[in-house]
Amino acid sequence: MTKENIKIIISYLDKLFPDAKTELFYENEFQLLIAIIMSAQTTDKQVNKVNKVFFKVFKNPDDWLKLWQKNIENYIKTVWFYKTKAKNIYRTCEILYKNDLNNFSTVEKLQTLHWVGIKTAKVFLAITKNTQVLGVDTHVHRVLNRLWIVKTKSPLETDKKVEKILKKEDLSKLHHTLIFFWRYNCTARNPKCDLCDLKQICKYYKKVILIKNK
Ligand code: SF4
Repeated sequence: MTKENIKIIISYLDKLFPDAKTELFYENEFQLLIAIIMSAQTTDKQVNKVNKVFFKVFKNPDDWLKLWQKNIENYIKTVWFYKTKAKNIYRTCEILYKNDLNNFSTVEKLQTLHWVGIKTAKVFLAITKNTQVLGVDTHVHRVLNRLWIVKTKSPLETDKKVEKILKKEDLSKLHHTLIFFWRYNCTARNPKCDLCDLKQICKYYKKVILIKNK
């Protein structure tokens, strides 16, 4: 992928989604971290539905004292893997009860919360601190591979390579525009290629969609 084509992709996504930002519901940074933990393998829509109720009683780490793990499970049981997530939320609260969240201001520090993976850490910091990092989930990984910005086999491999390819100053905004792009345009099944201006440079379009439609 040439630098010129990367520029074209980034400016196209910017034009498509000038106001892209997280669609997760939260009222403070602590709640955002919890919402990102909950959003693994679950849609933002479902997480928001739960959190509009859950976050009324769960505003800061002190609330774990009142709620306990079982109660957290009850609140979030419509979210995938709710038992594991309730346990991780509970453990996060135990730590953040004694340590200010602001002390976890880098990807490395956030990952010392062992259940916070690299994607969660990057998404959180990109949103709260505008840190120039790109959180790579399976969808971001898929789109970057479709466009052939990277040629990788897993989100983790993409994560390792992509920040070396893209300009640092583009990363935090790109995280949001890519998420909007896979959610609304370059969907996993039936991407809206007919409406997409990236057809001419998209490898997936040339190698899969065009051949399928012949
Ligand atoms: S042409 Fe299709 S597959 Fe390629 S980026 Fe656009 S929507 Fe996605």
